[in-house]
Amino acid sequence: ISLVDETSGEKEDIEVTLLPAGHCPGSVMFLFEGENGTVLYTGDFRLAKGEAARMALLHSGTRVKDIQSVYLDTTFCDPKFYHIPSREECLNGILELVRSWTSLTRYHVVWLNCKAAYGYEYLFINLSEELGIKVHVNRLDMFRNMPEILYHITTDRHTQIHACRHPRDDDCFRWNRLPCGMTCQNGTPLHIISIKPSTMWFGERMKKTSVIVRTGESTYRACFSFHSSYSEIKDFLSYIRPVNVYPNVLPAGGTEDKVMEILKPLCRSYRRNAEPR
Ligand SMILES: [Zn+2]
Ligand SMILES: [Zn+2]
Repeated sequence: ISLVDETSGEKEDIEVTLLPAGHCPGSVMFLFEGENGTVLYTGDFRLAKGEAARMALLHSGTRVKDIQSVYLDTTFCDPKFYHIPSREECLNGILELVRSWTSLTRYHVVWLNCKAAYGYEYLFINLSEELGIKVHVNRLDMFRNMPEILYHITTDRHTQIHACRHPRDDDCFRWNRLPCGMTCQNGTPLHIISIKPSTMWFGERMKKTSVIVRTGESTYRACFSFHSSYSEIKDFLSYIRPVNVYPNVLPAGGTEDKVMEILKPLCRSYRRNAEPR
């Protein structure tokens, strides 16, 4: 695209490249390449270790592009978020729990307590493909531009996996009722468990426990993360090695100084500043 400076009338051509961000379907990072250098804006992202190295568009020839500045998703840029189980680990944990419950009888159903938002599609798709059970959702229209998911979700309540919502769905659940109102099928009461996707993290020296945690008689929490962990952020940045880095967000309880203390040593500008005077 062509940019014109309104005051000087100077023109500059900028090339903008969209890279997959792994945050939710369609999420992208922006790479801006212009005469004054290259900037990468990650937006919200979750990239596994080594994933940046496999992105051809971040490279020219065999080398990573010379990137001046990175604007980085620092949601979990704190050592306490050192490790977050990978997408595959989390997905498999949920899959096995849903499989073992729904295979007991057809009256054993699962409620996925997901916030009404994008990002769980690949979970729905994976469960539906592996188990042959479609996922009940309130409305299909929010997915109308994602044809690949439409086959895996349904508005028919007679299914064993639900991701439907109700304004007071925690109350529903307490009364053994699904948010869509289902309590029984053919006169047989349903046995319902709920699984709440939430981020779980492990410190560097912490023992990694299961990606599924039982929180009550029929409630579970399952690991799920839309953002890169501390070690994934460091891996990404030390691969890109920009001159400068700017955090897009502050981690919960963190300060900008603390985040910069972590990120600066991974930038090229650090060496110069750190040289003895
Ligand atoms: Zn988001
Ligand atoms: Zn439902």
